[in-house]
Amino acid sequence: MTIEPIDARDLIGHPGISRLAHVGGTLEGLGTEVATLKVDEPVQGDLLLESVVEGILVTGHLDGTFALRCARCLKDFEQPVRVEVHELFSTEPEPDDEDVYPLDVEGWLDPEQMVRDALGLELPFSPLHSPDCQGLCSVCGGDRNLGECPGDHPDVDPRWAGLELVLQELEDRI
Ligand SMILES: [Zn+2]
Ligand SMILES: [Zn+2]
Repeated sequence: MTIEPIDARDLIGHPGISRLAHVGGTLEGLGTEVATLKVDEPVQGDLLLESVVEGILVTGHLDGTFALRCARCLKDFEQPVRVEVHELFSTEPEPDDEDVYPLDVEGWLDPEQMVRDALGLELPFSPLHSPDCQGLCSVCGGDRNLGECPGDHPDVDPRWAGLELVLQELEDRI
């Protein structure tokens, strides 16, 4: 399933008329390594469609769910996302006007690109599962949120941490 087109044929050529429409569906392939739109949870939205001289003005909000990976502790988590949209769909968009979405001359409105753009802009670059996530210890790799790191390591440059462990093992054997 993808995002369903909206039948707006009744609005075409009748500036001043408006009505509500529901948008729903799923989108694949939106996201980055650490943040993606969940494909098994549909995007939903209630949109106001307003017929204007240039085409149809779409206003409302979209709800979806992001699947995220915490940038500090690598924990997977989910987060609901709501984004406001206010976009013009036109049957005659100017070739270089990127702010206007194309509208089928008959009045079928395909909201997929708008949904993709709006939610894509909300994807976090550096998601945190909690604003005060303690992250992983750079020395022992323990999750500090779970108390896995004893926290009393000698102050070691993380780049040498691996070497330090090897040295410690050697020392233990002697
Ligand atoms: Zn975290
Ligand atoms: Zn540690």
